[in-house]
Amino acid sequence: MVTTSDTTPLPLLVIYAGGTIGMQASSRGLIPAGDMAARLEAALATLPPLRRRALPAYVLWESPEPIDSSSATFADWSALAALIAAQHEAYAGFVILHGTDTLAWCASTLAFQLQGLTKPVVVTGSQRPLGQPDSDALDNLEASLAFAATPGWREVGLCFHGRLLRGCRARKWYTRDDTGFESPNWPLLGELVDGVAVLYPARAWRDDDGAPRFELPAREPAPQVVRVTLWPGIDATLVERWLEAPQVAGAVLECWGSGNLPDDPALIGVLARAAAEGKPLVALSQCPIGGAAPGTYASGQILNDIGVMSGDDMTVEAACCKLTHLLAQDLPQEELRRRFLTPLVGERGAFTPQVDSA
Ligand code: ASP
Repeated sequence: MVTTSDTTPLPLLVIYAGGTIGMQASSRGLIPAGDMAARLEAALATLPPLRRRALPAYVLWESPEPIDSSSATFADWSALAALIAAQHEAYAGFVILHGTDTLAWCASTLAFQLQGLTKPVVVTGSQRPLGQPDSDALDNLEASLAFAATPGWREVGLCFHGRLLRGCRARKWYTRDDTGFESPNWPLLGELVDGVAVLYPARAWRDDDGAPRFELPAREPAPQVVRVTLWPGIDATLVERWLEAPQVAGAVLECWGSGNLPDDPALIGVLARAAAEGKPLVALSQCPIGGAAPGTYASGQILNDIGVMSGDDMTVEAACCKLTHLLAQDLPQEELRRRFLTPLVGERGAFTPQVDSA
């Protein structure tokens, strides 16, 4: 895509996938729009000269069909992963412009598909379209370019409102507020301080192998992983219909508190049968902060007894993406289990503040 001599610093690759950041008004509300090259240039040209000069060089790749990310699928994100895998050597880093609705899903699945990254990958979007008065788009774009061009970190980050979050720890938290996202169980990887992109290295993911081990899906379409959120009085026969469906390959159970479920033999029987049939099950907490530890209470111990894997403090996006990803690798059950329970890209496990020198 680009050719450079040994002495020329590599540019960034900016990938425009869609989302509000590139949308335009229509009679039915905002719709995805193209011609991003000219619109990006025009927006960046409005920056004060010093900030314009500080922008890193970039090459734009525009999707021929930008989408509202509420329609995004795993196939769309696998195509993004394949593009980055193919162009990994040619660019210094990557910025993906994407809708915010499923941005945390995009970031999570990219992290699992692009293990061993040696360059930054930054996903971003905005709450209001580029070019609209009071839009947050230009700020998010400028900050994302700055973080993507800052060496010293090598993972999938989500940049929004001057903050860099680990992508597979982030969740869309606000529908309108510029903050957009939170990372409830991991601190910021970096933030803008007086307009300068500052990283907190002790919080970054350290990949001991430090070499690309990209894992694009071995099969498509992506296996169906269902989300089952408990509610008081949940009817086991409803859960049974989902888990027995032949196209369902696994499930993420969003349990109570630290990983508890009702003392209902019918519900436990449904889960036990699915697990015995080889459909991997994961237990998460419905609480955003802290995570699940099934077995803390007797009402959660049954999950351990029937082989449900604890999702610990993973976000639901990361847990679903990880399970989908591992199922798409066609691994033996024990290996799938081992990998699910091991942090692969910093997606699970508590942060220990003592090691943070930031
Ligand atoms: N519906 C939009 C999308 O996800 C919302 C956004 O980008 O903020 O594409």
